[in-house]
Amino acid sequence: MLVENDAPLAPLTTLRLGGPARRLVTAHTDDEVVAAVREADAAGEPLLVIGGGSNLVIGDAGFPGTVLRIATTGFALEGTALELAAGEVWAEAVAATVLEHGLAGIEFLAGVPGSAGATPVQNVGAYGQEVAQSITEVVAYDRRAGEVVTLTNAECGFSYRHSRFKADPERYVVLRVRFALEDADGLSTPVAYAETARHLGVEQGARVDVRAAWKAVLLLRAGKGMVLDAGDHDTWSAGSFFTNPVLTAAQYESFRTRPGAENAPAYPAPEGCTKTSAAWLIDRAGFGKGYGSGPATLSTKHTLALTNRGAATAEDLLALAREIRDGVREAFGVELVNEPVMVGVKL
Ligand SMILES: Cc1cc2nc3c(=O)[nH]c(=O)nc-3n(C[C@H](O)[C@H](O)[C@H](O)COP(=O)(O)OP(=O)(O)OC[C@H]3O[C@@H](n4cnc5c(N)ncnc54)[C@H](O)[C@@H]3O)c2cc1C
Repeated sequence: MLVENDAPLAPLTTLRLGGPARRLVTAHTDDEVVAAVREADAAGEPLLVIGGGSNLVIGDAGFPGTVLRIATTGFALEGTALELAAGEVWAEAVAATVLEHGLAGIEFLAGVPGSAGATPVQNVGAYGQEVAQSITEVVAYDRRAGEVVTLTNAECGFSYRHSRFKADPERYVVLRVRFALEDADGLSTPVAYAETARHLGVEQGARVDVRAAWKAVLLLRAGKGMVLDAGDHDTWSAGSFFTNPVLTAAQYESFRTRPGAENAPAYPAPEGCTKTSAAWLIDRAGFGKGYGSGPATLSTKHTLALTNRGAATAEDLLALAREIRDGVREAFGVELVNEPVMVGVKL
């Protein structure tokens, strides 16, 4: 276990923003993770768990407590049952299941940055697939009970970019995630997303070569600056900064009366709700790709990614985020909600 004091956090995040941690602990085994959490809890010390730092906006004042960086390793595949230690790099684990083993189930989540342990936190999803579809169990340290617990998929409370872990961030530290993958003789799960289907030249619902699916997703993502590349400021982001709004029937009705809204993308969501596109709203509210003239701007490849052009502070990024949120509210009456986790700051 490595312990550093007054340690910079910005280099540990993909936005490269934020002040230092009073104390930074790097844990390499589950026992070290549990010991570090217990120690912080016993001392009444604020605790922030980080993996790859790809979904975090840390304030310029930093974190006045212990930051626990999960650096555990472990990739175990038995048949189609996969267990990943929380610190495993997600994109590498996906690549191994697809390229080395030809398995389906997480192939459309290729190239998503960050750690395996964070995937259940916001039910990571992309291109019509989300981890809730393949996670069987999550092994976590329950800070309230003071013990390691195993949660079934149903107990994880998964929904769109949400889970029990996100709802109750002070309670669980994920140690291991178990998945049931699918051996479909080298084929993918059915292609669920229209853009991927178009790119692959098949109908939605078709199965394709799983390696081709993985490759297509990486290509599509790279074109949108959604694959990490240290040399490309368009990827100095936290991915999508806003979730796609899910509107109740009444909200959707009122939204549709706004000029231009009749052409907005609309997808059915649970409980009679309608999901629309945050990227579409941002663009139509006047914030196109590359919007902004300061050190924080929209990505030149995707309106949904707020980026650090190199010298931005967290406040610069938040000022841009607030301008966009307010502009969309004014144009369409829809309140955008941030997807990344805010540490010591608010939108
Ligand atoms: C370029 C880019 C593209 C992206 N594309 C997508 C996408 O397509 N789909 C998508 O869903 N997301 C996407 N993201 C967001 C991000 O990659 C995911 O949310 C990812 O799962 C975050 O993992 P992380 O390890 O970096 O988490 P961190 O940013 O380190 O942490 C995020 C949150 O999870 C908590 N956390 C982390 N590890 C643990 C743990 N072991 N136990 C408990 N809590 C933990 C943290 O406390 C924090 O609250 C993208 C981000 C970037 C930068």
